[in-house]
Amino acid sequence: MRRTRVGAVALAGAVLIGGCGGPPSASSRDGDGSGEAGGRPEIGREQVVEALARGRFPGRVGDIAVIPDSRAIITYPSESNRYMHGGPWPFDSDVPLLLHGPGTFRPGVYDAPASHQDIGATVTELLGLPPWGGATGRPLREAFASDAAGDEAVRPGLIAVLVLDALRSDYLERKADLLPNLSRLAGESARFANTRVDYLPTNTSTAHSTIATATDPAIHGIVGNGLYDRRTGESKLAYEGAAPYNLMALTFADRWSVATGGRAEIVAQAGTDYPAVALAGHGACILGGHPPWMAYYDSGSGAWRTNEDCYRLPAAIAALHFDPWLDAVDRTWMGHELDSYGEARRSSLFSAFEGEAAVALIEGSAFGEDDIADLFLANLKSPDYVSHKYGPFSPEMDATLAELDGWLGRIVAALEAKAGAGGLALIVTADHGMPDTPASDDLWVTYGDVTAWLNERVDPGGPGVVAYFEGSENQMFLDHARLEALGLAPDDIARTLEESPAVGFAITADEVRQALPARR
Ligand SMILES: [Zn+2]
Repeated sequence: MRRTRVGAVALAGAVLIGGCGGPPSASSRDGDGSGEAGGRPEIGREQVVEALARGRFPGRVGDIAVIPDSRAIITYPSESNRYMHGGPWPFDSDVPLLLHGPGTFRPGVYDAPASHQDIGATVTELLGLPPWGGATGRPLREAFASDAAGDEAVRPGLIAVLVLDALRSDYLERKADLLPNLSRLAGESARFANTRVDYLPTNTSTAHSTIATATDPAIHGIVGNGLYDRRTGESKLAYEGAAPYNLMALTFADRWSVATGGRAEIVAQAGTDYPAVALAGHGACILGGHPPWMAYYDSGSGAWRTNEDCYRLPAAIAALHFDPWLDAVDRTWMGHELDSYGEARRSSLFSAFEGEAAVALIEGSAFGEDDIADLFLANLKSPDYVSHKYGPFSPEMDATLAELDGWLGRIVAALEAKAGAGGLALIVTADHGMPDTPASDDLWVTYGDVTAWLNERVDPGGPGVVAYFEGSENQMFLDHARLEALGLAPDDIARTLEESPAVGFAITADEVRQALPARR
């Protein structure tokens, strides 16, 4: 299936309205017979509203949350982002969670519900820090080797959090043959089999901020990768300029840095800037803060960078560049030309490059050199980039998973070698998943398609009612003046949107506000 409607928004709108965009595509939901067996996953409206309430920060969300139907994809008109996560469905919201470390965690399968907030709360507890008032996560104490909270027996010397970007939890079963290291870790871990992202949207900035702060996006404020500013009419990255100023809560790295007077060795790494900022925290860009080591891949230059206002760039990877990996294959991978440092991330070569960087960071660190617990916090982004472009069950993704898994083994070995007497506590998770291939072309649309479809119904021939609608945040900002001129309310727009086959739910800000007391 190829989306051929890019640049033909009006036509796509007509396809949706007419409900017949030509013969249905021959492609099944997934090439290998995957997908939700028997049809749509069951997620109720109440659950969606609650998840939106956990992600509602005043001034940062729109008038209507437009949640794609479970069989549909709403995305950018870009071949690099044909697949888009962000919704509440299991393929987006079910994530793996492994707590690994002999002496720290008791192996086994745990059925209790767990969430990203709990990861932050668990690390906080392992560090011996008191929980803070804004935390909504709980320490997963049932998995601790000792039941006595704060017991020295559960204090590791090195705590590592590895976030495998867009690693769907069902890969653990369905791609086990490609993931021997992850499978071994899972078998040796306390595995929380019911770990679900319980807020919306399910995207990278929001997830890493939730993990790092142990609290809901409604409290830490990073409610998307991008934040639309009604005042300027512009959308910017929540972590624009690799800066942490929009993050309204302290991370466990922030708190540990302050508690140890900057003596803890804290290293954060990510395949792009925004998860690196979330994991590293505020660093020196907050009163009393110390700069941790932080490195992110810069797709403009092909090298590792930091924001020197708040963080320090580790010397171990300052000279590491993507070129040697790309030159070795003549900038071609599985028949695809890698014509920029940005596009080159959409390949298993990037798994290797990120993995090499992680090992260099760990080996070059001062982990385990004193009795203060250290932190290694990493995002490995290649599965996200590859599945955005090729889909979660493509041959390209298989190659990427296999490469990633090899590096996961090397990274864990490097961590274990540096952990010192206290040992390693390793937490492996994902930030979100990735949707299956839509059943038909008319369920594979762009943000512009949805806007055009809506305007054709409520404002035909007019300027339209949408001020901004774009990105995995799923937030639609309405043009209030136009709405008033048409005598319409956001509720009318939401009801109309729900008639679109591509839309699962359209939930107004009012509906979310009324559900706020339900937030835990
Ligand atoms: Zn993504």
